Amino acid sequence: MIVDRQGRSFRNLRVSLTAACNYACTYCVPDGKRLVAAQDELSAEALVRAVAYLIEAAGIERLRITGGEPLVSPRLEPFLQGVRDLGLVEIGITTNGQLLARKLPILIDAGLHRLNVSLDTLDAGRFREIARGGDLRTVLDGLQQARAAGLKIKLNMVPMRGQNLDQVLPMLEYSLEQGFELRFIELMRMGHLARDASAFQQRFVGIAELLELIGRHHAYVQADAPLDATALRYEIPGRGFFGVIANESVPFCRTCSRLRLSSTGWLHGCLSSTNRHYIGDLLDKSRDEALPALQQRLLRALADKQEVAFSGGATIMKIIGG
Ligand code: SAM
Repeated sequence: MIVDRQGRSFRNLRVSLTAACNYACTYCVPDGKRLVAAQDELSAEALVRAVAYLIEAAGIERLRITGGEPLVSPRLEPFLQGVRDLGLVEIGITTNGQLLARKLPILIDAGLHRLNVSLDTLDAGRFREIARGGDLRTVLDGLQQARAAGLKIKLNMVPMRGQNLDQVLPMLEYSLEQGFELRFIELMRMGHLARDASAFQQRFVGIAELLELIGRHHAYVQADAPLDATALRYEIPGRGFFGVIANESVPFCRTCSRLRLSSTGWLHGCLSSTNRHYIGDLLDKSRDEALPALQQRLLRALADKQEVAFSGGATIMKIIGG
């Protein structure tokens, strides 16, 4: 295992299966254009080999499949089938849920237990304004079917002033009723928001304001979370849990154990760094040849991590897997 001076190592891997997405969320892409898959995206087999090598070289325990939108990729099924027998403690997927109902059999067949679905509003008009693609009803239907199939579901919501702040309480109520754990993600200074400080400041809603808003309607207490968890967890006794990922207000860089792999074979050790390390050239090599070189690149990726606080990054989230 590779460990830095602060005792950090890579244990959680996020693989962006594709940069393509059927949405163009306002906070993710600036111009409303949906991103298409890069020409040089790796095959499912190469990505599976990358995961296998990273498990050995870095000690990865948990895998999250993301994107872009992972459910639009034809590589989803072979990738899931390939990684299911690698001995990972957990495999999860982050999706916008638009294709959830259609792809559910593939997820269940691969033995997937957990699902994070991004949903920023329960208002159909607002949904179209923020996502600039897709349809709210289809997502809600997919969620019902996934729940009926026994999947454990978390919802991700990015609260933004002037866009969906009034949706915080309806989203919380809906999640509590459905048995989903809602996680509020503080808006991050990524991509175009890293360059436009005033657009970011206008929309940003921090954890203090969020908890104050929730506290006016619900009595909540802080709940336990694993040491390297990114979310602060809260319980509304008798009703359920919610979480806040407070990248800006309560940075978790000191305990960050995340590594990201793009669909084109680049490792990213830190969201706040533009450094990246190519590993596509190692994937047709034997294990003995690939692992020493991979370890060198992992050391460099680990050195990219911020010491204390997240400071934003120029890369678009969907390229490196949000
Ligand atoms: N398409 C999938 C989805 O929608 O969940 C996976 C990729 S998406 C980039 C992953 C997550 O990143 C989503 O929950 C999205 O809300 C979040 N995200 C993207 N840009 C963000 C930003 N600037 N600040 C906070 N969260 C962001």
